[in-house]
Amino acid sequence: MRISAILEQPIQLQGNMANAVVDFSSHTVSIVALVSDQRRNGKPVVGIAFNSIGRFAQSGILRQRMLPRLLRAAPESLLNPEQTAFSPAAVAKIAMTNEKPGGHGDRAGAVAALELATWDLNAKLADEPAWAHIAKTLYPSTSNYPDKLPGVPVYAAGGYYYPTNHNDQLSDELLAYRDQGYTDFKIKIGGASLSEDMQRVNTAARIAGGAQHLAVDANGRFDGATARAYGQELAAAGVRWYEEPGDPLDYGLMAKLATTYSGTLATGENLFSVIDTKNLLQFAGLRPQQDLLQMDPGLSYGLTAYLEMLTAAKTAGFSRKQCIPHGGHLINLHIVTALELGGCESYPGVFQPFGGYSPQCTLTNGRVIPSDAPGFGLEQKTELTAVIAGLLKDAM
Ligand code: MG
Repeated sequence: MRISAILEQPIQLQGNMANAVVDFSSHTVSIVALVSDQRRNGKPVVGIAFNSIGRFAQSGILRQRMLPRLLRAAPESLLNPEQTAFSPAAVAKIAMTNEKPGGHGDRAGAVAALELATWDLNAKLADEPAWAHIAKTLYPSTSNYPDKLPGVPVYAAGGYYYPTNHNDQLSDELLAYRDQGYTDFKIKIGGASLSEDMQRVNTAARIAGGAQHLAVDANGRFDGATARAYGQELAAAGVRWYEEPGDPLDYGLMAKLATTYSGTLATGENLFSVIDTKNLLQFAGLRPQQDLLQMDPGLSYGLTAYLEMLTAAKTAGFSRKQCIPHGGHLINLHIVTALELGGCESYPGVFQPFGGYSPQCTLTNGRVIPSDAPGFGLEQKTELTAVIAGLLKDAM
């Protein structure tokens, strides 16, 4: 059993929305395919994944450094010890050959795409959804996995700053999500004045049926004084959580804010390694049983590393229900389902072709259930069908 080819393609994100800091219209994502020598129905079995959303494609790092390492490796070195499946951990480790420690930036997403594609490949070889495959692999002593899932809590992330008619477009956007079955929402703050942002919060909270169903995200924009000024108003409004008030690595700012902000703080999507997570847990003043951790496996070396982050979080007193990964797409839906995390993000209207779920996923009353497609089911997502066909056009 071996990997016969690895394909990568940068894909432009669609949309003209912006958060407080970043205009996403220029963003790209790397989609990768691990083509195996195993065949089903006359075609090779292929693992597919991408490096989440919100950064850029990693074509250079993948093509110049990581893909040659994996293709040069002895085929059996990419398998598990029993030689019965590909090893996501081995793929990640070999992709990182000769890389120095530290500097967990873009390469963390490059490795993640490959590691996650390995999970997709294994699940397809086992002919089961990725969530079930991940759960069985990680918890082999659990013999019964439910045929019918209860679904995981999901919230619709959006509420970006549009070029015109901010408040009208915000209302229209959230109403559309509500019509789709979402009951919880997240909007951006920090791209306007505090008073304008609180108008946005109030508008969104009305549509959400109360601020307890509304989270806000500053995308790391604020200095300490601004973070605290927003915090006063947001605590009074009673929002569900206050996300990334300051620079994601400014643990001092977060620790100081945590002493005065009575509500829930959330952060972690811009930490890309286990050691960054441990530092966050040690120095950022986050409160066990209260605050939320949002590290994203697709931006931080994949599921293997994410499991170590969960262990670090548990050691620091945080439960899995306090882990709600960034990245509203099918890959993280399966991971949240498999690991029984606290919830899942969704980008139903934005970040196409990757954001949101496939039509076969069930969304009811704020809970989402993945489809029974093998792997992450990316092939079922309407916006991705042509992308994947283009990626694989010479491989099938
Ligand atoms: Mg965020």
